[in-house]
Amino acid sequence: MPKPVILIVEDEEDIAELLDYNLQRGGYRTVKTHTGEDGLDHALDEGCDLVLLDLMLPGMGGLEVCRRLKEDKRAAEIPVMMLTAKGEEDDIIAGFAAGADDYITKPFRPKVLLARVNAVLRRGPARRVSEDDVLEIGELLIHPGRHEVTAAGQGLDMTRTEFQILHFLASRPGWVFTRRQIVRAVHGEDYPVTGRSVDVQIAAVRRKLGPHGSMIQTVRGVGYKMGE
Ligand code: CA
Repeated sequence: MPKPVILIVEDEEDIAELLDYNLQRGGYRTVKTHTGEDGLDHALDEGCDLVLLDLMLPGMGGLEVCRRLKEDKRAAEIPVMMLTAKGEEDDIIAGFAAGADDYITKPFRPKVLLARVNAVLRRGPARRVSEDDVLEIGELLIHPGRHEVTAAGQGLDMTRTEFQILHFLASRPGWVFTRRQIVRAVHGEDYPVTGRSVDVQIAAVRRKLGPHGSMIQTVRGVGYKMGE
């Protein structure tokens, strides 16, 4: 199981460091950004499992970032935890209105931070369907347990990687995934990211799907999605 990735969006370096340190100790991988714009770009382009989002940021503020994340298909289901200063009840309410899933007040205790992050990730919308669920899309049946794909009842012969890519895309029909997200989902964290290899694999999957190959759609400038 790859470690969940927490995106930190915090302009104060010492707080960002503190979050970073504690989250890593808690078993998470972290990415630090210092402006709302960078945080937003990262979440949309690279994806992550949770966003820790400071409210008061120079430029685009936390509420705006949260709103934009929740409006974007690519990130709408990523849980967002707002970081607010103590006593800013109005901000907390505004945060929830903007779609935040939880909040934590600064200064925070590391233990409390981790407990809240763990809880949000546990209850958060499942990033993918259960690994054992058979997926049915049009005439395709994808059996993760058996690593088997059938199209209109015909078994298709796929490599492990091809199968994983197909299963990943099919687990969220209509969702657009970047090449990096696909690589991360298929190979875990430490695999070198090559967009080109994803393109090659996708081409092979499409070929094997035959008339159903067009279900995998290219979204120009972004990545791929499974048609519904
Ligand atoms: Ca701040």
